[in-house]
Amino acid sequence: MAIREKIGEKTVSVSVGTIETIRAKLLSWFEQNGRSLPWRGGYEPYAVWISEMMLQQTRIKTALPFFIRWMERFPDPGAVARAHEDEVLQYWEGLGYYARAKNIHLAAKLMVSDFNGKLPRDFESVRSLPGIGRYTAGAIMSIAYNDDYPAVDANVARILSRMFDIGFQSGTRDFQDAVWRCAAEVLPKGRARDFNQGLMDFGSLLCLPKNPACGECPVAECCLGFGRGVATLRPVAGSGKNTVPVVRAIGIAVENDRVLVRKRPPKGLMPNLYEFPGGEARDGEDPEGALKRAWKSELGLRFDRAERLCVIKHSHTSFRVTLHVFLVFSVSGCGTGLLSDSNGTSVISLEELDRLPFPAAHRKAVGEWKRAGEMISPAPPRVRSYAHARKTGCSGACDLAKGPPQAPK
Ligand code: SF4
Repeated sequence: MAIREKIGEKTVSVSVGTIETIRAKLLSWFEQNGRSLPWRGGYEPYAVWISEMMLQQTRIKTALPFFIRWMERFPDPGAVARAHEDEVLQYWEGLGYYARAKNIHLAAKLMVSDFNGKLPRDFESVRSLPGIGRYTAGAIMSIAYNDDYPAVDANVARILSRMFDIGFQSGTRDFQDAVWRCAAEVLPKGRARDFNQGLMDFGSLLCLPKNPACGECPVAECCLGFGRGVATLRPVAGSGKNTVPVVRAIGIAVENDRVLVRKRPPKGLMPNLYEFPGGEARDGEDPEGALKRAWKSELGLRFDRAERLCVIKHSHTSFRVTLHVFLVFSVSGCGTGLLSDSNGTSVISLEELDRLPFPAAHRKAVGEWKRAGEMISPAPPRVRSYAHARKTGCSGACDLAKGPPQAPK
């Protein structure tokens, strides 16, 4: 067996001996340098599945504390299946890409109904579960069961494209076909668990995206990219999508220790998470104006005044968001009860605010609000507006007549 085919502009030819050397050296490197991770203890299939779901789009260092907390609360698929979706999302809060948590919830229910409450044992059944594609199925089958399946994520694709000097543009069908073929050829039978994890760790520790440590690399002598001086040119960069800058504004309104929020739709970005209502600024529109317009058009609500609490910058896959957070002082709803469960919104208690799942940027806004609350002096600077509220007849249905919104404790 050997890898010999036309890849890009070049013909790749790697002998059986070279492949054997790559296998032996990578396995030995993993034995000595593999990272100690909680799911690597007993390779319990459920733990491996959760780790792989968390590690999609997320670094190990970030995912680790979430993994530990998750496993304490949800030690098996049954525990996930029995939990309310809000709680599942809350345990995911901060990891982003919330569709993963929703898929885990759905998949756990399927495991309970169709697979005796366990992760299925065969590739096709694992692949059929929500949120599991070719890579994740291969990773689960090889890591949990040591079955001979390749698993090619961006890290592994980078290593293979360098090792075998794959000249196709990254992200193209030809590139994907080539790296998966190489991964299948180089996989040592019966050692998929260690070999695949070895490749993953190797990509995170040595064959790094920008500066591969070729000088310390145990397989440098077999690496075509290194030998031909093109290691850093592999993989060939894709066309790349630029991220779009977006300005958004959200408002925090409080009444009688209850906060106005709304739940996001079940499909799309951050499905089913709670958020403070707001909207995107149009061209030339200032954030407060955008907030007023969004509240009026989407919620049918108006407010007299908004105070900027903070500005939070964050990114999604294709957006760079500048989020302007305002404390909203409501006047037009006075007397009729501004905050009520209507227009797709809910009013929740401060305890629920801590318990329900929010996008990371909105959770940061809560943190800023708490910090601001701690700094509110006995004579708050917003006193003129409260006097105005009393003068204009707010009778007590709205807290504007009583004082500033209090930060949650
Ligand atoms: S020699 Fe360099 S490019 Fe090749 S596999 Fe090793 S670290 Fe990666």
